[in-house]
Amino acid sequence: MRILVVEDEPDLLRSLAQALREEGYAVDTAADGEEGLYKAENYGYDALILDVMLPKLDGWEILKRLRSIKKIPVLMLTARDQLRDRVRGLDAGADDYVVKPFDLEEVFARLRALIRRGADKVTNVIEIGDVRVDTVARRVCRAEKPVELTAREYTLVEFLALHRAEVVTRARLYEHLFDETDDTFSNLLDVHVSNVRKKLGAAFIVTRRGHGYCIE
Ligand code: CA
Repeated sequence: MRILVVEDEPDLLRSLAQALREEGYAVDTAADGEEGLYKAENYGYDALILDVMLPKLDGWEILKRLRSIKKIPVLMLTARDQLRDRVRGLDAGADDYVVKPFDLEEVFARLRALIRRGADKVTNVIEIGDVRVDTVARRVCRAEKPVELTAREYTLVEFLALHRAEVVTRARLYEHLFDETDDTFSNLLDVHVSNVRKKLGAAFIVTRRGHGYCIE
């Protein structure tokens, strides 16, 4: 899952991005409104975390322009004294908001809910044969036994599971699994796919030659 965080306070931006990466997300960052809008328009994100007060272009303006061109879950970050803003944010098409200073666990929980909703999945647990993917605990079990996956492997499984029965192209996987800071070594999609097959069964991820990958 690839997230864009738009936030102009450098410390907050850095710590939020780092915490999200530790949760296994691919994270791009933008420090002002123009950069944020540009990335949001041009790259495929699974969700956007958007601060309200931003230089160059504020969160409302980004939301307004984005809503006219694409549907992407947006979590707004608002200050405590911007109570009216929250109502305005939800009216303008924000999907949810958290109030600063926020608890990271709350951000994670709301983000997971937004991503599930974005994929039209209402439940936290996705069952595929004898494999269970728990999107809250971010754990995978096979035949009732926990399977150890790396953060990237988990993200790959979750993305395919949320888009089950769809053929997901390699380009789309690259876009959603890796971020602008990833180096070429971590970009080895085939290695991640092969590792997941070793752990969850060779037939778990099906290759559609020339098209992409699929969980059936
Ligand atoms: Ca700000």
